[in-house]
Amino acid sequence: MSSNNSYVPERAMAIVAHPDDIEFSCAGTLARWAKAGTSVSYVLCTSGDVGIETPGMTRVRAAEIREAEQLEASRLVGASEVIFLREPDGLLQATLDLRRRLVREIRRFRPEVVLCGDPTIVWAGDDYINHPDHRAAATAALDAAFPAAGQPNLFEEFAGEGFRAHRPRKVYVTIWEGGDEFVNIEETIDVKINALRAHRSQMKDWDPEKTIREWAKDAGKGKEMAYAEGFRVVTLIDDDTWAKTKGECCT
Ligand SMILES: [Zn+2]
Repeated sequence: MSSNNSYVPERAMAIVAHPDDIEFSCAGTLARWAKAGTSVSYVLCTSGDVGIETPGMTRVRAAEIREAEQLEASRLVGASEVIFLREPDGLLQATLDLRRRLVREIRRFRPEVVLCGDPTIVWAGDDYINHPDHRAAATAALDAAFPAAGQPNLFEEFAGEGFRAHRPRKVYVTIWEGGDEFVNIEETIDVKINALRAHRSQMKDWDPEKTIREWAKDAGKGKEMAYAEGFRVVTLIDDDTWAKTKGECCT
């Protein structure tokens, strides 16, 4: 277990299923990194278009509302871009086409770190089942990050757009319990809470502050951090190789 809080990647890309997924899971870390100079990209597989259930609501209108909320939230966090892939909410699948679309985004943005969910999480306590879209987005993101994005003869059509193969240095998998790396979010927990509040259609009368502070306090317990976010971190490229290649696969 480690808590390497001096690490600041140059570029980080978070890939999730829905508007608000990043804010719930890793916005404190992204805000911390953005403040320190990281370029942060948000990739939303769906626009949460079945996530508003008021009478008369349409998918088109819901997507507009939720994209606007996501843009506001990511501005608070300090993201430099937000990409909406507009796959259908509630029906997301880890298809080869989704993997291909994510490979394109990774090769375009060239992140040092890819952040995504844990595709193995199904159960969460006795009052929630992990949303199938979360599992699908996590599977597609992991499969895009490794090995596909780094293989020049796979999805080679993107080379024509100038998007060469790219190998991310690390993958940060957001977890609900456990974890092997913890990022201190003491200075950015307020940003995280405010970014969640920006998702007004989802929060309704619920204020996220109490729950988010509890989660972050639990994650920081025993690590000399008042508030933290926990991850399972996979290091795909060692430090020396990364310094030389910055993710270029064939230099
Ligand atoms: Zn979600």
